Amino acid sequence: MITKLLERGGDLAERAQVCVIGSGAGGAVVAAEIASAGHDVVVLEQGHYWTKADFTQREDQMLPRLFEEAGMRQTSDGSITILQGRNVGGSTVHNLCYCFRTPDPILAMWQREHALPGLTPEAMRPSFERVERMLKVKPIRESEVQAFIMRRFDIAPDGFPIGFEDMCSLQALGTAQKYTGSYERVARSIRDFVSGDKLMESREQFFATLVLSMMVRNGDAHLKNFGVLYSSPLDAVSIAPVYDVVTTTAYIKKDVPALSLAGTKKWWPRKVLDRFAIVHLSLQPSTVDDIFSRMSAAVMETRGIIPDYIADHPEFREVGKLMMAAWEEGVIGLNG
Ligand SMILES: Cc1cc2nc3c(=O)[nH]c(=O)nc-3n(C[C@H](O)[C@H](O)[C@H](O)COP(=O)(O)OP(=O)(O)OC[C@H]3O[C@@H](n4cnc5c(N)ncnc54)[C@H](O)[C@@H]3O)c2cc1C
Repeated sequence: MITKLLERGGDLAERAQVCVIGSGAGGAVVAAEIASAGHDVVVLEQGHYWTKADFTQREDQMLPRLFEEAGMRQTSDGSITILQGRNVGGSTVHNLCYCFRTPDPILAMWQREHALPGLTPEAMRPSFERVERMLKVKPIRESEVQAFIMRRFDIAPDGFPIGFEDMCSLQALGTAQKYTGSYERVARSIRDFVSGDKLMESREQFFATLVLSMMVRNGDAHLKNFGVLYSSPLDAVSIAPVYDVVTTTAYIKKDVPALSLAGTKKWWPRKVLDRFAIVHLSLQPSTVDDIFSRMSAAVMETRGIIPDYIADHPEFREVGKLMMAAWEEGVIGLNG
């Protein structure tokens, strides 16, 4: 039974064997387990009980209803916003329903640091399986939902995090300055931070990323879109894979590159890019030619599948056509 004190008004006296404070993922489960073991339980929740009819799909109304401090709660230094639920159901009411088992390295850390030797993946497996059955957890496939699914490059196959620093961190710049850099400065950071034995392949990859961004008219390749990876502070440092490539001119017609090169921000001609590769990345002209050929082939191959995609998703027609035109212009422009 749920009693809403706001509507009821006044005090309410209840007697129970156990009182659980908070009705989120932790409190609700604890209360349900204790109740199913035959004990009387009261759950005390500070937030309101909202039902389907109350969900208006309006942020100005729902944020104050569902979140602590209307979604504006922050760390004491104001640097990180912390979304925290404040309603019956806690943060589970608005969470995204992604369900992951606690990764083995985290269980190992809890065993080690909290003296919980029994917390092994084998011991936890039946509990994970029980929760997954209750919640009907299943893998998400692209064909089932309209979602962008991406494999994380900063998490190892065993679930352990891989160190990642983007160019803003490496250049001691704040996020707000991510559009203030230059390709020459990124090239210097690569020289300074990438390990010697990974340097040339990292430079080639960085240049390939620049060429790709030019060909597909990606105007949003800013300082946070380049970074380095390392397994531990003593291990080799290499450049991170390419990510976050968007044909921005399909949405912003007159868009230009986010970072400068040779003091300008424009869709540079081939000779400017060639010069950058040779002078700032020490690449051989033959390597540069090879990168242009590989990127052109990859872009045109991918362009070839867009018409089929448009046929399956007519709502993509307008943007798809703009993308194909932008890519053709980019590839032809850089190959003469
Ligand atoms: C936007 C968002 C998306 C998320 N997406 C996912 C996801 O996809 N997958 C996933 O696994 N996790 C996700 N999470 C995280 C997950 O929802 C939380 O880790 C989980 O709900 C935490 O459980 P909890 O019981 O500790 O706290 P909560 O679920 O936040 O519940 C705490 C409850 O206690 C109440 N309370 C606090 N203090 C008092 C008090 N003094 N008196 C009475 N009541 C009190 C609060 O009002 C709240 O209702 C998401 C979280 C957020 C905010």
